[in-house]
Amino acid sequence: MNEPGSFGTTLRPGGLAGVLRAADAGKNVQLAGWVHRSRNLGGLVFVDLRDRAGLLQVSFNPEWTSDVTMAAASALGQEYVIRVGGEIAMRPAETTNSEMPTGDVELRATELTILSAAETPAIPVARGKNENLPSEDLRLRHRHLDLRRPELQHNIILRHRLQQATRRYLDERGFLEIETPILTKPTPEGARDYLVPSRVHRGEFYALPQSPQLYKQLLMVSGFDRYFQIARCFRDEDLRADRQPEFTQIDIEASFVTPEDIIDLTEGMLGALFQEAGISIPAKFRRMSYANAMERFGSDRPDLRFGLEIVDVTDAFRDADLAIAKSAIAAGGRIRGICIPGGAALSRKQVDEIEQIAKSAGAGGLLRVKKTGGKLDGPAARFLSESGERLLPIGEGELCLLVAATDATSNPALDRVRQEVAKRMGLIADGAVEMLWVTDFPLFGRDAVSGGLAAVHHPFTSPSPDDVARFDSEPDGVRALAYDVVMNGTELGGGSIRIHDPALQRRVLSALGISDDEAQSRFGFLLEALNAGAPPHGGIALGFDRIVMLLAGAASLRDVIAFPKTTAARALFEGAPSAVNAGDLDDLHLELRSANSD
Ligand code: ASP
Repeated sequence: MNEPGSFGTTLRPGGLAGVLRAADAGKNVQLAGWVHRSRNLGGLVFVDLRDRAGLLQVSFNPEWTSDVTMAAASALGQEYVIRVGGEIAMRPAETTNSEMPTGDVELRATELTILSAAETPAIPVARGKNENLPSEDLRLRHRHLDLRRPELQHNIILRHRLQQATRRYLDERGFLEIETPILTKPTPEGARDYLVPSRVHRGEFYALPQSPQLYKQLLMVSGFDRYFQIARCFRDEDLRADRQPEFTQIDIEASFVTPEDIIDLTEGMLGALFQEAGISIPAKFRRMSYANAMERFGSDRPDLRFGLEIVDVTDAFRDADLAIAKSAIAAGGRIRGICIPGGAALSRKQVDEIEQIAKSAGAGGLLRVKKTGGKLDGPAARFLSESGERLLPIGEGELCLLVAATDATSNPALDRVRQEVAKRMGLIADGAVEMLWVTDFPLFGRDAVSGGLAAVHHPFTSPSPDDVARFDSEPDGVRALAYDVVMNGTELGGGSIRIHDPALQRRVLSALGISDDEAQSRFGFLLEALNAGAPPHGGIALGFDRIVMLLAGAASLRDVIAFPKTTAARALFEGAPSAVNAGDLDDLHLELRSANSD
């Protein structure tokens, strides 16, 4: 049991406390770790010793412990670091603890060394079952203690295992792990860059990579036909609840591939990662086109764990004397919504609350029709003509919640309504997992402010060969060779086949309103490389933090990242960002403007 570790110690690397079981009774062991809890019961001292592997009860008892050691054990404080030796023994039957994996045994301590004393911890590491966690800010401020919590230890260890599983999976398939720079040129994922001023080149800046996109494409041009990286990416975005300004992607690129190759590879890899966490998923995921996903679910990452598909009931309302329906139809909109089985039983208050959510997502409100006892009822029902009533696909006991608006308005609102109703009506089965590929994205969207064309993925995504002919006449209808993988309504990642023809790349950049000069100064190095004989290539990037979070069952990305930032992009433990002294700014040729000149 005391196999010597590879570090010249008698301790087991990775800890021992959590792995001892009844079969180990009688063995002599040495352990080192932290005092998780200690109890002094008049002459007997019990310590729950914690190491990376878990918890073990250590018992100090004058029957087997010397007086000197008893005295030292009585003085142990929480989070002291100790080394103990002794024999593993079965606990007396009435003192076993079925809630601890090691609860049948204890270490009867004969040796004790205090390796470090500890101040009373600023936040508790050991927590009673019903004891709440301290506030997250406080925990992030004392991250070294928070990370000692068994839950976070578990998450970080799972993260490591998933990283290794990723490497194994890709290595076995001929992928090379290649690092790309952190000090780079601004990259084109569409968010704001973190900039790093250059000291030696006055007035010039590096950007931290938003993704290794251009580098991985260059690697393909250079002949490394299969690349991956567990890549740190940086995006300076406005605050959102569960975003991290620096995050990790499993970044993949391969040459001479089709979308099917990348899809197969990703399915296999996700299968291996889920397996690592003890979850099995289907070998092949469902598929849905972007157009279909938007029409049926109002979202390009639909949650398929429940139905509540969106129906178009415009025809039912076409002759209704209802101003809002008329004006929506006149403006090129439709009346769409969901019909909820059993929804007629929802109270008015509940439906009002659901309506609030639709409104906060931009809808003017919800039209309501329900059917009970074979009859339609609800505020919108009386506007329906007899033929309109027949066109409404509503079943007995159902409630239809409808939005009369253009799709651009109704889609996000109905997406939120669907999710809210599913939650309230308990439609999501525990442990259900629905994996989905969304394909055939449009190549271009429209910039909300200028109305000009904007890349939906990024400007290096290849148009579908079937649609290249429509490129000039009907750019909004051009589909991309792009694919997103979605789990239970959460996007896990996305990618595309890239443009490898320099002329086509220039055409796309120009359609995006990027002049030749700008293209040259921003992406000249890529264009030059594409001129040098570029293989057809494509890839994908998966949000690694998000995958770990889902597999760990964690509530937040911050629970699976050792040193995360807050939603305000601060590191509370080390205190970053922080002011720098004037001399450092001078070296960088920078000067701060006063706050009120902003
Ligand atoms: N670079 C893209 C991203 O970070 C993913 C890809 O196209 O591979 O979103």
